[in-house]
Amino acid sequence: MISAVDHIGIAVKDLEASMGLYSTIFGVTEFHREQVVDQGVDIASFSLGGVRIELTAPLNDDSPIAGFLAKRGEGIHHVAFRTDTINDDLQRLAANDVKLINTVPQPGAHDMLIAFLHPKSTGGVLMELCSEK
Ligand code: ZN
Repeated sequence: MISAVDHIGIAVKDLEASMGLYSTIFGVTEFHREQVVDQGVDIASFSLGGVRIELTAPLNDDSPIAGFLAKRGEGIHHVAFRTDTINDDLQRLAANDVKLINTVPQPGAHDMLIAFLHPKSTGGVLMELCSEK
């Protein structure tokens, strides 16, 4: 069941500069740092009232985040929803004509499994489902 907002992914060009900005705004003193090579992303995240804010920079020019930044610039990239039934959810959504970017869950940050839904099927919002392994 999809049960909560897990995190908000924010595309940034310069991770260090963004960490400085978020420290100023929210008083964050410690970020979780992680690179997910499969996704081509370098992440700095922190928790705010149980919702993680994930500042996400591209690791290379082939990263989907690099494409996003080139097209749209910095800003909100995706909203991720926590589920404990990710495979069932993907099947159900596909059966209801929701276009999936990932038909099979992929390894994501925080040792989670993730799958993206296509924004063309979700009113322009890039949605991610994420689940503990
Ligand atoms: Zn995410």
